[in-house]
Amino acid sequence: MAAEHVADHRVDEAWTGTVLGTSVPDDARERWMELRIYRLDPGQEGKYLAWRVAKSYIYHTGDTACRTRSGAKPGRLGTVANLPDDAEPCDECNPLFPDELPDDVRVRVEVDRNTINRADSAQQLVDALTHYRDRASGQWVVRVSEPVEYVIEQAARRDPAFAAVVLPRPSSVPAMRRELAAG
Ligand SMILES: [Zn+2]
Repeated sequence: MAAEHVADHRVDEAWTGTVLGTSVPDDARERWMELRIYRLDPGQEGKYLAWRVAKSYIYHTGDTACRTRSGAKPGRLGTVANLPDDAEPCDECNPLFPDELPDDVRVRVEVDRNTINRADSAQQLVDALTHYRDRASGQWVVRVSEPVEYVIEQAARRDPAFAAVVLPRPSSVPAMRRELAAG
């Protein structure tokens, strides 16, 4: 049994349930994605939940010219005190290394970005995890990523509803899927 509470600048959600699958990369990298899926205990919104968190060790200079894909300044303003142990200076804007950074110099620290999907069925959850809006074209596309495939395999051994899931074919998405994927 797991009890979780996830909060960031966009998300604030709590739930209890059973972990059905987990994907965490086992090699060190600068940016990575973790994915967990849960069967929720009764009395909560939805029957299943997927928790995706995009993580990063990267930090930028305080006045960086770097931008996220949506055009925003990356991360949150902070100082060396806000850096994680394995912090990595961005190789575009080249802030000082942590042990060279004066205590009062501001940097922009990339923070966790959480995405929560709740669904009433295993199929609905898998649909939410495999439908993405392509940033360039604005079109919905279907992609079955390795972590998603991996957690579905695990979940299928713990819950027959996941064994029965039909993986969508990578392709463009029918309009009727849009509402689902946006959730
Ligand atoms: Zn940078």
